[in-house]
Amino acid sequence: MADREYNVVLLGAPGAGKGTQAKMLSSSLGVPHISTGDILREAVANGTELGAEAKGYMDRGELVPDELVIAIARERLGQPDCKPGFVLDGFPRTVAQAEALGGTLEDLGREPLTVVNLAVDEDEIVRRLSGRRLCRGCDGIYHVDQPGVESGAPCPAEDCDGELYQRSDDQAEAIRERLNVYKQQTQPLIDYYGERGLLVDVTGEGDPEQIAERVLQVVRG
Ligand code: AMP
Repeated sequence: MADREYNVVLLGAPGAGKGTQAKMLSSSLGVPHISTGDILREAVANGTELGAEAKGYMDRGELVPDELVIAIARERLGQPDCKPGFVLDGFPRTVAQAEALGGTLEDLGREPLTVVNLAVDEDEIVRRLSGRRLCRGCDGIYHVDQPGVESGAPCPAEDCDGELYQRSDDQAEAIRERLNVYKQQTQPLIDYYGERGLLVDVTGEGDPEQIAERVLQVVRG
């Protein structure tokens, strides 16, 4: 059991490495990794009502309406495994979501957030997203620059026999839309959390293990 709560939000553009860093941080801290994107993709794959409502927005690279994602996050954060803390990845993405998150934590009597902003140059973001391939089996994240990585290929992880695929929203047009949405709706959160003294910037460029070290240091304080 952790000695204190680790209530972490990872902010950053699509492709900044939130998913990769959130996975590493959640395993270092022993708290759940909560990705609203993963929850929504699972709902789409399972053909649920939520999935049917979210799919069109996601395919176009637009944000799913606040009410839907706020309800998802509120429900997930109230579960007992989130008591020692959580790493939020991809939520909040709008000021309305940030306000709702603040309210939820207050209602649950939780400690304040540490918000880590992963800063990455825009050309690098586009390179990462357009070459990104995921594994259907282990959710591993790869890049076509790595040997053997392409859609339809087997997962390079030793203990996984899943297949690699490209996310439908990692295609050029959706990437452009997601970056526009990020600039208009999510970047304002950097000021929102900065003004509240909760924000720490960490460079998201370089070796993922070294970035993870920096993020861990910041979060542990
Ligand atoms: P992600 O995996 O975080 O890049 O999210 C993929 C897509 O899911 C986004 O482009 C949105 O369509 C949707 N989504 C995920 N999280 C949110 C959120 N917090 N608010 C609105 N839409 C979201």
